[in-house]
Amino acid sequence: MSLLASIIDSSDDAIISKSLDGTITSWNRAAETMYGYKAEEILGKSIALLSHSERADEMRDILQRIKEGQRVDHYDTLRLRSDGSTIAISLTVSPIRDLGGNIIGASSIARDITQRKQGEEKFRHFLEHIDAEKKALDRVNDELRMEISQRQKTEEELQAKSRELERSNADLEHFAYIASHDLQEPLRMVASYLELLAKRYQGQLDEKADKFIGYAVDGAARMQKLIEGLLAYARVERQGKALGATDCEAVLQATLLNLQVTIEEKSARVSHDPLPTVLGDADQLTILFQNLIGNALKFCQNQPPCVHIGATMQDSEWVFAVRDNGIGIVPEHAGRIFMMFQRLHTRTQYAGLGIGLAIAKKIVERHGGRMWVEAQSGQGSTFFFTLRPWKA
Ligand code: ADP
Repeated sequence: MSLLASIIDSSDDAIISKSLDGTITSWNRAAETMYGYKAEEILGKSIALLSHSERADEMRDILQRIKEGQRVDHYDTLRLRSDGSTIAISLTVSPIRDLGGNIIGASSIARDITQRKQGEEKFRHFLEHIDAEKKALDRVNDELRMEISQRQKTEEELQAKSRELERSNADLEHFAYIASHDLQEPLRMVASYLELLAKRYQGQLDEKADKFIGYAVDGAARMQKLIEGLLAYARVERQGKALGATDCEAVLQATLLNLQVTIEEKSARVSHDPLPTVLGDADQLTILFQNLIGNALKFCQNQPPCVHIGATMQDSEWVFAVRDNGIGIVPEHAGRIFMMFQRLHTRTQYAGLGIGLAIAKKIVERHGGRMWVEAQSGQGSTFFFTLRPWKA
């Protein structure tokens, strides 16, 4: 075997030659493995044997180009193997010339590119997969964007509603303030004339008349107190002072001084934690302490009241707790007691108007805090409220 023949035979690429009519004239070992035909069975046969149905006219076209002296370089195509299976190849075909330069045939070098094609196919699948993922992500993104804009809309609507509520609240408060303020004067007149009536005519009319006048005097006095309460409620917002450093120890001492008589009368014990300096309005905080401690002293059982005022720092705010050993509250009614004129007892059981806690809550809210109660019937109550610490 010549050197050239042995090089051709040891090549990994299929090297074939054929005459211009397509008759196979040489067939190396790699061609045997690649196409599955032994040299002896295919030599002299037509190259059309390898033709793939998907590339029917291709061989004729290639031969035509060869006849015209052209080359076909690295052309990816398909071929049929002896067992009927398909093989993907990269083909380079060039003309064979005789000594006179005439084209007498073609030689072709074919490389098995099945693996490369499979890789390309995998890569294509991968790209398709990425594309599908991207589309899915885009969809999720769109949905998220819609959700966000929907939320923004809801938030805006909520803000608008809350502004509306604040406005109508302010209107109502204004109305309550004006109404109670203006009612005070005629009421004062009714009350003083009723008292005059009572003083002048007590015992001069019949017994019933005395009773009726008594009721009217009582009613007028109560109405005055209610109106004062309403005014005090409306004043929390209208006449509150600017918030500043407020020493709660001092506030408590002032409160206890105001409540001294009751404390002594009831032999009550009032204790407290060290109290902090908060951001507040001292006058309003005195009202707040007074309403809560006053209630703790009022709603007691058949034992001297024991009241403790605690203060702990939680999540950068002060949580105050006013705890008593009194009658407690049925938990179902606990939410109601912070509303104006809401009471859980009759006036004969415990005196009062049902305004104190509403004012207390409003004061806490004006200070940016929250207020709530924890209680069980018969086991004392603890009223909590939060205030912001004073930061110099
Ligand atoms: P008032 O004390 O004039 O009734 P409040 O607004 O201060 O009005 O209280 C509302 C109601 O809450 C009271 O009537 C009472 O039923 C209940 N309450 C308030 N404080 C206490 C307490 N410390 N223990 C038990 N019940 C309480």
